[in-house]
Amino acid sequence: MDKLTIAIDGPSGSGKSTVGKAIARRLDYLHIDSGAVYRAIGRKAIDTGTPLEDAASVARLARESEIKLIGDPDHLKIWLDGRDVTDAIRLPDASHASSVVATIPEVREAVVEKLREMARAGGVVMDGRDIGTKVFPDAQVKLFLDASLDVRARRRFEEERERGRDVSVEGIRAELEERDQRDRERAATPLVKASDAVLIDTSDMPLDRVIGHVLEIVRTRS
Ligand code: C5P
Repeated sequence: MDKLTIAIDGPSGSGKSTVGKAIARRLDYLHIDSGAVYRAIGRKAIDTGTPLEDAASVARLARESEIKLIGDPDHLKIWLDGRDVTDAIRLPDASHASSVVATIPEVREAVVEKLREMARAGGVVMDGRDIGTKVFPDAQVKLFLDASLDVRARRRFEEERERGRDVSVEGIRAELEERDQRDRERAATPLVKASDAVLIDTSDMPLDRVIGHVLEIVRTRS
């Protein structure tokens, strides 16, 4: 069976990362979480004291960073310039910074290049916001996962609680809403469903059903 490229886009908390990981595991494909790359750049901007609105400096930093995603889907480690930043990129300040740096066109260009390079060998499931529209417009399978804001906030809340963080659903809801709005309204490759992507609303669907549905779609395209 030929190795496919599977693009999964959607807003935060829509389930794309969980579904992406599960599909990659089932097909023995590489899973690439493109958000982790924007998060690593956001982390680096904060840690180096680079103002997020200084587009030229953040873009230079993006181009010069060595970002590696290492390991299998369930134990993925993110390395930035030789440092393990797996946990540091999930902190609230990095979430915010990633979404701001992702509005800079030159940062996006640098990230798209890195993502294509990471996926060079083929047989990849990549999730993000612009994978089906920009990174892999020719992907054989394109999915757009969505869910209501309340459901997405509840999922993120539970994930954060599992990580031992003291968070509120309201706080997470506000943060998701702000990041989504920035993703949808930015000029450079905003979050939109590719015209040929299959829309899956995961609000009322258990994730194992979503995964089954996606595997079925993949089978029809293989
Ligand atoms: O997916 P995740 O929430 O980890 O992504 C962090 C941020 O990176 C998002 O809020 C979004 O602004 C940005 N992003 C993007 N394009 C992608 C993946 C993520 O703009 N393909």
